[in-house]
Amino acid sequence: MPKALVTGASSGIGREFAFQLAQKGYDLLLVARDIDRLEQVGLTAAQKFGVKYQVLRADLSQLSDIKKVAGALSTESDLEYLVNNAGFGLNKALHKSSAEEEKALLEVLVTAPLMLTQSALGQMLEKNRGYVINVGSVAAWITSGTYSAAKSYLHSFTESLYAQYASKGIKISTVAPGFTRTEFHQRANINMSSMPNWLWLEDKKVVKQAIDGVMKGKSLVVPGLQYKTLKLFADVLPRVVIRGFSNYYQAKRRGN
Ligand code: NAP
Repeated sequence: MPKALVTGASSGIGREFAFQLAQKGYDLLLVARDIDRLEQVGLTAAQKFGVKYQVLRADLSQLSDIKKVAGALSTESDLEYLVNNAGFGLNKALHKSSAEEEKALLEVLVTAPLMLTQSALGQMLEKNRGYVINVGSVAAWITSGTYSAAKSYLHSFTESLYAQYASKGIKISTVAPGFTRTEFHQRANINMSSMPNWLWLEDKKVVKQAIDGVMKGKSLVVPGLQYKTLKLFADVLPRVVIRGFSNYYQAKRRGN
């Protein structure tokens, strides 16, 4: 059976990737810190879809753990799918966060996808077949601190790989979700109570569109008509307007 590795598979969008890829017949390699939740996800996928699974405990803010996962990937000859999904937000102004917190964010959102993609490509190129989905964000279009900068990196990184590896049978996409109902905002201590309903996405739809999109060879998948429309605006509005909106949004969500 071909295998799929999903980071951040213990919750939210990553857990849904695990289920939808299991439904397509992929055996699973599930990565996150919470081993009990990973076991639950693997067990559910195995019972519902008859796939095999392995769990790998890794804190992707630690270089040693990123190397451990990259090393495991480099020997997986059946690897066909990589989903770089693990992530979190900080919701603090730079002068209020610590250097350690900002660095941890960069390791999870930048270093881990970089090193895991590099490692997976080695296996995928052997067969000229593979799929990589990097979970970006609409935050890449605005100026919301290190999180936006890291997601911008991921969008640009993915697009450059898309161009380089498409002719070698490897399809690489970014999915850029907007607000999606997961544990993300609660973990980052972001109060979302005033967010209008029409802005929310469901993880099932986000993941389905991401998987359909990479199969079709799209470099960027933007789930939801509301966010496709916002992308059109983000592409044409002057940066001064984007910066103003970003500052307003950050102040509102931090409650100041
Ligand atoms: P979530 O429910 O909080 O899930 C985050 C996942 O990332 C969990 O499985 C968590 O697992 C894992 N993770 C976090 N820090 C980690 C670390 N240091 N090492 C290993 N794994 C770590 O949030 P989600 O919404 O599904 O987030 C998934 C991705 O979607 C993220 O990249 C996020 O930036 C992106 N995104 C989310 C939204 C949204 O509105 N929800 C919008 C745009 C983009 P453990 O805690 O078990 O380690």
